[in-house]
Amino acid sequence: MRHALTLALALLPAAAGSAAPAVTAIKAGRLLDVAHEKVLENVVIVVENGRVKEVGTTVPAGASVIDLGKHYVLPGFIDAHTHVLLQGDATAEDYDAQLLKESLPYRALRATKAMRIALDHGFTTLRDIGNEGGGFADVDLKHAVEAGVITGPRLFVATKALAPTGAYGLSGYDWQISVPKGVEMCDGPDACRRAVRDQISHGADWIKVYADRSYYRQPDGQIRSLPNFTLEEMTAIVDQAHRTRRKVAAHSMTPSGHQIALAAGVDSIEHGDVFDDATVAAMVKNKTYWCPTLTVTDFVAGPRSVTNPIWSELQAAVKDSFRRAHRAGVAIVLGTDAGGFDWDKLNQAEEFKRYVALGMTPWQALATGTVTAASMLGQEGALGTIAPGARADIVALSEDPLKDITATERVSFVMKDGVVVRTP
Ligand SMILES: [Zn+2]
Repeated sequence: MRHALTLALALLPAAAGSAAPAVTAIKAGRLLDVAHEKVLENVVIVVENGRVKEVGTTVPAGASVIDLGKHYVLPGFIDAHTHVLLQGDATAEDYDAQLLKESLPYRALRATKAMRIALDHGFTTLRDIGNEGGGFADVDLKHAVEAGVITGPRLFVATKALAPTGAYGLSGYDWQISVPKGVEMCDGPDACRRAVRDQISHGADWIKVYADRSYYRQPDGQIRSLPNFTLEEMTAIVDQAHRTRRKVAAHSMTPSGHQIALAAGVDSIEHGDVFDDATVAAMVKNKTYWCPTLTVTDFVAGPRSVTNPIWSELQAAVKDSFRRAHRAGVAIVLGTDAGGFDWDKLNQAEEFKRYVALGMTPWQALATGTVTAASMLGQEGALGTIAPGARADIVALSEDPLKDITATERVSFVMKDGVVVRTP
């Protein structure tokens, strides 16, 4: 009998951190209802089985109580553009060194640290949008979190990402040696469909495409780029993904890429630094989401401009694009490109203050990293909100983010799926 009991206990899923008690009641001094832009005072959030059961005023009998009476309580943050398998690539040398000198097991170990940092900063969900030569290791990381093997944010993964031959690093090496590539390369509609099918069969939640590269200024002063895929290839990729109920995110920096990506029907534009009026109009009309990734743009502008000044010109251009896109009503989703900057150098929550500096209200900025991101992920009601039925992903701040948005950079409490992973 004793043996059987031990065995039964051993078979319980190893919960990350401490296991969630049956019923938890969180006393929230101020609950920020981001969807309705309302502050609810002195409410009780009842959590059961990893989900919010009720938002009311009574503590159920027998519930364990968490007192956040002096805190500002919000839904867990979502960063919709990250690379957990990358640890900063301010320059091509930084990037190449990781792919050439670090084994995939070592990169996965570093990813677990990156994920822990994100969670400590209040990011309970990441859309990890390309693993930079990491095979399908991002699928493993996602499963490791779900199984409680490691403690980290929930991941939506894009696996290998797609670019045509010659359009992505590593490049510039002796042609006699073969070097790893940071993406899967495909050419022609059929081969690209096959690549999409293969990535989905191995666990891709999203398909990531690189729509353009090599940014330059034309004689007329406009910044443009080299488009990667043809419209036929891009259309095949999007059609194949949508047939399997997966969405497509397009790295696209100028209208040279936007035109093809938007015509093919991608679901989100990543970076998007240079928007012309036609791009903004098409994004509003098609309800294409935009991840501006301003944090990485500021991070790489200095080091990359040493060899190519276009990077500081892009930094200026994206600010203008942001103001125009926001005014026009483009659905903006918080995305930082963490991994493009070192996880331990910057806090992803810095992205919020960049949006406020460019004209968003604090409420609007908070929505980008909660409700709007959840909507892009097809997780309305489950993520990015504290309401009955939602996953119990909850963060608390000791200062009011509506008065000072940088309060989001000083998270003092984090719960994910009903389990406390950081305490004040
Ligand atoms: Zn990226």
